[in-house]
Amino acid sequence: MKYISTRNKSIKVTSAQAIVSGLSKDGGLFVPEVFPTLSKEDFDKLTEMSYPERAAKVLSLYLDDYTYEELLDYATKAYSRFYGDDPCPLVNVDDNLYVLELWHGPTCAFKDMALTMLPHLLSAARKKTGEDSRTLILVATSGDTGKAALEGFKDVDGTDIIVFYPSEGVSDMQKLQMMTQQGNNVYVCAINGNFDDAQSAVKTIFNDKDMQAKLLANGYKLSSANSINWGRLAPQIAYYVSSYCDLIASGKIKYGDKVNFCVPSGNFGNILAAYYASLMGVGVNKLICASNVNNVLTDFFTTGTYDIHRQFHKTMSPSMDILISSNLERLLFEFSGRNDALMSERMDKLKKEGKYSISDEELKNLKKIFAVGYATEDDTKEVIDNCLEAYDYLMDTHTAVAMSVFDDYVEATGDEETPSVVVSTANAYKFPCDVYEAVAGERVEDAKKATKKLHAFTGEDVPEPLADLDKREVRFTNVIDKSQIAEEVLKYTRK
Ligand SMILES: *Cc1c(COP(=O)(O)O)cnc(C)c1O
Repeated sequence: MKYISTRNKSIKVTSAQAIVSGLSKDGGLFVPEVFPTLSKEDFDKLTEMSYPERAAKVLSLYLDDYTYEELLDYATKAYSRFYGDDPCPLVNVDDNLYVLELWHGPTCAFKDMALTMLPHLLSAARKKTGEDSRTLILVATSGDTGKAALEGFKDVDGTDIIVFYPSEGVSDMQKLQMMTQQGNNVYVCAINGNFDDAQSAVKTIFNDKDMQAKLLANGYKLSSANSINWGRLAPQIAYYVSSYCDLIASGKIKYGDKVNFCVPSGNFGNILAAYYASLMGVGVNKLICASNVNNVLTDFFTTGTYDIHRQFHKTMSPSMDILISSNLERLLFEFSGRNDALMSERMDKLKKEGKYSISDEELKNLKKIFAVGYATEDDTKEVIDNCLEAYDYLMDTHTAVAMSVFDDYVEATGDEETPSVVVSTANAYKFPCDVYEAVAGERVEDAKKATKKLHAFTGEDVPEPLADLDKREVRFTNVIDKSQIAEEVLKYTRK
C-alpha cells in the first residue's frame, strides 16, 4: 500500500518512506491510499490473540514493507516493556462504562503505546530505504511525548533524539522525567514559550531546506516522532481494534455492535486512530472528542470554523494544552472527499490568518460520528473525586476531562445503553499534585510529597517507573529562547 500527502495526492511513497520522512515534503501529512478492512472472520481470529499479535495483524495491513513476523517481533519487544500482563487493560467501572488504560508502559502515559513501537519501525525502515545517514528525531512536546520518545529511542543504533519542551507548560513530574533521561544519543532542552511555540519552531526546521542541507553536512537526516508520523499513528489504531475484541470476548457485545469512545484530545492523534479503526470495521456509535478549556476543537466541531485567535490556558491536563491540532488535517482530508487542493488552501490559511472554515456539508457529516465537549478545571477535579467515590477508581487529570465530557454527553443525549469506553491516557501519579488536591482537598506543591500523600490517601500503588525518579541524576537543565532552537539543533549535530 502506498501513502499520499494530504496536500498533494500525486506524492506517493511506501510505508517505509513515510515513516522515515515523517512529514511529506510539501508540508502535508501522509495517509494510506485506501483503508484496509477487517471481516467478521478477522475479528473472530483477533479475539483469540494476544495484544502483540493483534497489533502485528493490524499493522501488517498498513505497513506492507514489513512482514507479519517482523511486526510481531517488534510488537513483542515493545509491549514486553509494559508492566502487568495486559499492555492496555479494559476496566469495567460501571454497567456500560469501561476505561481503556493506555498507560502501563515505561513512562506511564498513552504515548508509550506507539513510541515503544516506532523506533523498531523506523530502524527497519531506514534499512529498507537504503538510508545511511544518522536519523535525528526532533520532538516538540507538551509533556508526555517527549519522555516516551526518549525512552523509546534511547541507545537505538543510527538514531539521535532531541526533545524541546515549554519551560512552564509541563508538570513537575514530567519535567523531572525528562531532565533525568538516560542514554548516549539523547538531548533535552526547555524553551521559553508554550507548546505551540515549540511545535511551530520544530515544524519550521522540518520545512527549512537550508537547515536540512546543514544537518546533512553533519551526517544527519531529520525525522519526527510527533503524532504527525504515520509510524506513531498506526500502532494506535491497534488498541481500538483490540478493545473492541475485548468487548466481544467478554460477551458484552457481538461483532457489528456499536460502541462509544470518549478520548481526551490535544493534537487529535489518539481520536483520529479511533476514527481509522471505525473505517476498518470497529463498530462505532459516537467518537466523543474531549477538550479542556483550550477548547478550540469543541468550537470547531460546533461551528465549522477553526480559529486559533484565542487565549492560551495552562491547565492541570497540560498534554492537551494545544491550539493547533495537527492531525485534524488528516481527518478533514477524508471529510473533504480527499480534496488535496482544498486542504492545501486551508492549511495555508491557517498559517497566514490563523483560521479556516469547512463547508456545512462537511460539518454535518462530521457531526454524524463526532460529539464534542470540554471540561473546566473545576469539572476535572470534581470528576476525579466523584469517580474515586462512586467507582473506587483513581484517574489522572486528562482521563478526568474525558470522563466529565462523557457525563455531559450522556446527560445531553440520554445515551446510557451504548457500551462506552473512556480512554485513559495517563496514570494518576503523573499528576500527583492536582489529583491529590482533587481527592483530599489539600494543595501540596511538591510532586514527591503529593505522591506519598496520594498513596497514603488512596492505597493505590505508585507505578514503578515513577517510584524512584528522585533518586536519578539530573542531566539536562538548559533553557533557551524559541529563536535559538535551530542553532541548538546544529550545535548538537556538530559534536
Ligand atoms: C498526548 C496526550 C493526550 C492528547 O492526545 P492527542 O493524540 O495529542 O490528541 C491526552 N492525554 C495525555 C496524557 C497525553 O499524553
